[in-house]
Amino acid sequence: MGLGALTDAIEQAELSPCAGDLIDGFVLLDRLTARLIDTVGAFDRSGLWALDGASSMAGWLKANAVRTGGDAVSLTKIARLLHALPVTAAAFGEGRLSYGQVQTIAANVNIKTVELFAEHEGDVVPTFESLTIKQTADAMQYWARHAGALCDDPEPSDPINTVSHSSLLNGTGRLDGTFDAETNALVTKAFAIAETPWQEGEPVRTAGERRADAFVDIFEFFLQNHQRNTGSHNLPHIHLSMSIDDLRNHTGATTVDGAGLSHNQVRRLCCDATISRVVMNGTEIIDFGRSERLAPKALLAVLALNDRTCRYPGCDRKPSWCHAHHVRHWEDGGETKFENLTLLCSRHHRLIHKPGWALVMLPGRIIEVTTPIGAVLTSHPPNRHGPEPCRKAAA
Ligand SMILES: [Zn+2]
Ligand SMILES: [Zn+2]
Repeated sequence: MGLGALTDAIEQAELSPCAGDLIDGFVLLDRLTARLIDTVGAFDRSGLWALDGASSMAGWLKANAVRTGGDAVSLTKIARLLHALPVTAAAFGEGRLSYGQVQTIAANVNIKTVELFAEHEGDVVPTFESLTIKQTADAMQYWARHAGALCDDPEPSDPINTVSHSSLLNGTGRLDGTFDAETNALVTKAFAIAETPWQEGEPVRTAGERRADAFVDIFEFFLQNHQRNTGSHNLPHIHLSMSIDDLRNHTGATTVDGAGLSHNQVRRLCCDATISRVVMNGTEIIDFGRSERLAPKALLAVLALNDRTCRYPGCDRKPSWCHAHHVRHWEDGGETKFENLTLLCSRHHRLIHKPGWALVMLPGRIIEVTTPIGAVLTSHPPNRHGPEPCRKAAA
């Protein structure tokens, strides 16, 4: 039977949205994936990929099978491992191991340990057939820890700590990383500390969005506190260029790398920035002014002493995680003085500058936040929590 019959079978298959069809469908998908990976392995060993001008099997998969770089590398690695692991390959092909389980096995076996796993797979793999991905991962990690000690040369050949970061054509970026167990524990701990809980009025965030917010906090914290250049509380090194017309017309700005930023993003960055005036005639610089730090260190210290934490209602982020927010925006003529500044943590600073949000400071440094749905939340300054709550008279 050729692939034409398979195409017909896929088109004619009737899948109903019930648990049984979904589970069976995924088993079939995995069995087809097993056949494809087996074929990838044979194509890889034949070297036929070179005829298409590719420099590797993974490169061929990217260019001709339209796989992402990560998928192409992973498919090639799994194909090579399975060629040396007949029991695992058979269990995968017959639908007894899922693709997720095979990926989990591959993640814990490398070129130095594959021979040892080939000796053990006959005993180990049948026990995996009833396990979840998590249980399979636990068992394989246990095996990998002990395999290192049994191999002559336990040095792993795969790069374990690796991060890929790419700037995309639209100015956004993508980050992907793999860590060894020790680094992963460090990363997990940092995320746990940097993640902040939901506060009243905020939109609900997904787990990925919470982690991204934590990630931004970790990066900002480093940029504000590292000691490489100018001592403590450095500024994030984003350089924006903005013409007088951009400033007046609220048309946003571009970074020196050419990425466009919206008007709201520019307003937020201007809250806590160093501003330099550069007068240009076309591309020629005619004059430039002294760099001016909007909120100098002394003013930040006064803010920290007064506000103590982020002033978003309910948030307790400490000053070292916070920005000085101009209540009346700097762009609109808001002054850089204590009366017009308040501390906001990086996440709440980004939130408050989004469309639909408003923050005002009332007498006595009481902060009122209005959410996009019109809810008004109040934050009193520390030690001034408003009237004491009523106490029950003693009986
Ligand atoms: Zn601000
Ligand atoms: Zn906050």
